Amino acid sequence: MAETAKILCPDKTVLIPDIEAGCSLANDCPADEFKKFREANPDHYVVSYINCTAEVKAQSDLICTSSNAVSLVKKLPKDKKIIFAPDQNLGRWVQKNSGKELKLWPGSCIVHETFSEEALMKLKFQNPDSKIIAHPECSQNLLVLADFIGSTSKLLDFISNDSSKTFMVLTEPGIIHQMKRKEPNKNFIEVPDIEGCKCNECPYMKLNTLEKILHCIKHKNPSIELESKIIKKAYTPLKRMLDMSL
Ligand code: SF4
Repeated sequence: MAETAKILCPDKTVLIPDIEAGCSLANDCPADEFKKFREANPDHYVVSYINCTAEVKAQSDLICTSSNAVSLVKKLPKDKKIIFAPDQNLGRWVQKNSGKELKLWPGSCIVHETFSEEALMKLKFQNPDSKIIAHPECSQNLLVLADFIGSTSKLLDFISNDSSKTFMVLTEPGIIHQMKRKEPNKNFIEVPDIEGCKCNECPYMKLNTLEKILHCIKHKNPSIELESKIIKKAYTPLKRMLDMSL
């Protein structure tokens, strides 16, 4: 996300509290390997989820978010062959909802893949009137059990628009704080991970602490630095996303 801010506003200083606060999806899709994958499928249009590196964005035709992925892919011509990267779970969900065949890069989010199906079923048994809501980065065995699947913003809308009082939340549990603020009279249940070891908390997001935010504001570092040729190339698919979203 910080790199995206820099690509869109190259003349601004973009600070990040911890330079290591990346994303497993970005790590799962190294630019040199992705280049080989693209070159092996030269007739494909490349749609990349925004959670990828600037170098992968620079190799893409179109960037999407989990909110707009389905609508953007639907807008592409029927006969277009499409690569979707880097999240294969999101890609499968987009494929199902857009009706378009996608060639998937085999990446995944370490957080969304850790939720325990068994724990989810136990919780559902204990809370039969609750609704299971999930982010499309979750694996298929969990998504088939969900009452609603959507991006972070769509999950936040759903909890307000739905009449249920209790929701089981299948995404990074940081969102539960926002849900409680938005709907203080509703209940939100965190689904445990397979081992019960809190692997469902994103280790990358958790690197950004209040102390580090204060430090980076005070000292103006670390900041995001990208080569200008990468910024230029990565800007085109990001701008295309913004134009197609109008
Ligand atoms: S939860 Fe963490 S690892 Fe997963 S997509 Fe979000 S930032 Fe990346």
